[in-house]
Amino acid sequence: MKLILLGAPGAGKGTQAEILCDKLGIPTISTGNILRAAVKEGTPMGLKAKAFMDAGALVPDEVIVGIVKERLTQPDCANGFILDGMPRTIAQGEALEQMGVEIDKVINLVVSDEEITKRMSGRRVCGSCGASYHIVNKRPAVEGKCDRCGGELTIRKDDEPATVLDRLKAYHEQTEPLVEFYRQRGKLVEAPDQGSIEANTAYVLKLLEA
Ligand code: AMP
Repeated sequence: MKLILLGAPGAGKGTQAEILCDKLGIPTISTGNILRAAVKEGTPMGLKAKAFMDAGALVPDEVIVGIVKERLTQPDCANGFILDGMPRTIAQGEALEQMGVEIDKVINLVVSDEEITKRMSGRRVCGSCGASYHIVNKRPAVEGKCDRCGGELTIRKDDEPATVLDRLKAYHEQTEPLVEFYRQRGKLVEAPDQGSIEANTAYVLKLLEA
């Protein structure tokens, strides 16, 4: 099963990808997590990406395509994968096709801008492993600590309100055209927000069975 999770920042792509990767036994490839790890380690790629990320802008296509091309050659991707946060531009979608990647389904997580803005203010992320939490919708067992690795939970720099608006703008201008791109290819399935993480997972699993 080769899946793409499409949707605005904060639509729940990372959360659903984590759950689905456990249920389906395939890895998640999150370009956002890969980039944040590179920024933290101070690699040349991280140094290049940081300014774009902090400004709420998209990282250049060639950087992203390079990351994904390399990741997809790893053995754990042989039986399928979930792409979380990639493609984010038509050029990235075309690059996947040029790599010969045959996507089975593209799940579009549909959430209003108003709801996105609300959600982002409560989002927390583990500074060590990148796992995502929310102060209301997805609370850790111990406040401020990651359930998975015990790392400190922090607020992502790009979740500050002004940057969220820039990220939403980038989404509408550069990423949303992919909805039509995949609809035309007969791959698109729509998942309107069902009001809770569990209900959204159940909805997506039903879409995958269909
Ligand atoms: P995310 O965690 O998916 O919200 O990604 C965080 C940030 O990383 C984005 O706001 C972009 O700056 C960058 N990023 C992640 N994935 C991509 C992508 N496919 N194309 C361009 N930029 C990306």
